[in-house]
Amino acid sequence: MTTIGHFIDGKRVNGSSERRAEVFDPATGRRTGEVELACAADVAGAVEAAERAARAWRDASLSKRTAVLFAFRELVHARRGQLAEVITAEHGKVLADAAGEVQRGLEVIEYACGIPAALRGGFSENVSTEVDSYSLRQPLGVVAVISPFNFPVMVPLWFVPVAVACGNAVVLKPSEKDPSAALLLAEWFAEAGLPDGVLNVVNGDKEAVDALLDHPAVKAVSFVGSTPVARYVHQRGSLAGKRVQALGGAKNHMVVLPDADLDLAADAAVNAGFGSAGERCMAISALVAVEPVADALVAKIAQRMAGLRTGDGRRGCDMGPLVTAAHAERVRSYVESGITAGAVPVLDGRDVTPDGEPAGFWLGPTLFDHVTPDMSIYTDEIFGPVLSVVRVGSYDEAVDLVNANPYGNGTAIFTNDGGAARRYQHEVQVGMVGINVPIPVPMAYYSFGGWKASLFGDLHAHGADGVAFFTRGKVVTSRWLDPRHGGVNLGFPTQT
Ligand code: NAD
Repeated sequence: MTTIGHFIDGKRVNGSSERRAEVFDPATGRRTGEVELACAADVAGAVEAAERAARAWRDASLSKRTAVLFAFRELVHARRGQLAEVITAEHGKVLADAAGEVQRGLEVIEYACGIPAALRGGFSENVSTEVDSYSLRQPLGVVAVISPFNFPVMVPLWFVPVAVACGNAVVLKPSEKDPSAALLLAEWFAEAGLPDGVLNVVNGDKEAVDALLDHPAVKAVSFVGSTPVARYVHQRGSLAGKRVQALGGAKNHMVVLPDADLDLAADAAVNAGFGSAGERCMAISALVAVEPVADALVAKIAQRMAGLRTGDGRRGCDMGPLVTAAHAERVRSYVESGITAGAVPVLDGRDVTPDGEPAGFWLGPTLFDHVTPDMSIYTDEIFGPVLSVVRVGSYDEAVDLVNANPYGNGTAIFTNDGGAARRYQHEVQVGMVGINVPIPVPMAYYSFGGWKASLFGDLHAHGADGVAFFTRGKVVTSRWLDPRHGGVNLGFPTQT
């Protein structure tokens, strides 16, 4: 049984806390290790290492910083298969999906390799006679990144490469459910030449998160997780005077208009509803069918679902297990509550025969038809392989439904009418919109983030917002005196 510790000041270490959490292989149900749950003293040790490192790292040249990022990119790229295996072993998602996750993370590292362009300031000559003004962006110091279980590589990589490229030192607190990948990333960053202490990983739970939120040396917090915790982290961190971006949960709708290509829409609904067993913040969980398409669409989706293979992610299956036994049980109870509430189960995932060990945390894909907005399978973020079809009579009804939802992470519309798509992108109150694209995750050079209860704070992840988040602006007004200058003047400048 391995004990998974922390990575502080350039090396793997064990902390002083006695508390531990179990780590499982979700496809076998077996306990594969235990992870240390850091106490406030462990967190303080990591923050102190980061503080020491931040002083020199902020002065490292852009060439030095980008050299490290290029080397790190090569290591992650060369070892992407190993990383995907580690993800699958602790999260359960199928290997191909884990490889896709690594690829999305690599794209952010590549974006961070171009940091010199992103950090370029502006310069205005002669804002007043012989006076120039220019802008700089400078690092914050020590920043914290707190990540969820569902993307143990991609979400840390949304933030860490950009934060480091901007000259900050980082303390990363991964999910205690799948902690191993983050430690590998930290080791590989060190191998790529990142100085000790610039990236530290502290494993833990609420106690570690609270210690980071309260530590005065932590200047900013990037959080991703469920909405109640995101709200809490935003409030507590903001009260402590920190800059906080807290990305929360989601309930993503896919609207299918009557003129849509129904085969394309059905393929997309299955991919986006059941990929990664629905454990994606961009998963589609509500399909809004604008009549008269619902009967035909539901039939096409059910036909595709019948061919899905649920099982061990290392066996070439389409969909893996859920992350923990407790989560599988929770999602199962939502399926029960949907039936009790009167939704029509077209396919019931509880009947699945998995290609995997019986003790795995299995639940097959479930499709509900005739779901109404008052049912808990519609109102709650289930975060599992449950797709709910809501039938509506018009486009207006569809957009009103989406906009009435408290979440606003992602949405998609399927149509062949460019005007309708354009109207939807304009009217919908959601941060990321797909047009005939079911999971519209922005590329690394754009920014990722939702609206409403899906994000607390102002700036989104990576891209220009990421650089803005991890830096502070400064404007310099300078005068280098011409030797012919004319003496003292106590007035406010009026020269033009
Ligand atoms: P979670 O909120 O349970 O945990 C997220 C992080 O917060 C973990 O590191 C965890 O250790 C910590 N944490 C948990 N409870 C805490 C508490 N009470 N106080 C302080 N810290 C706490 O989320 P999860 O189950 O790991 O991840 C799934 C959730 O994340 C879903 O709601 C999903 O939609 C969301 N998510 C959102 C995005 C996005 O971009 N908006 C991306 C991925 C996941």
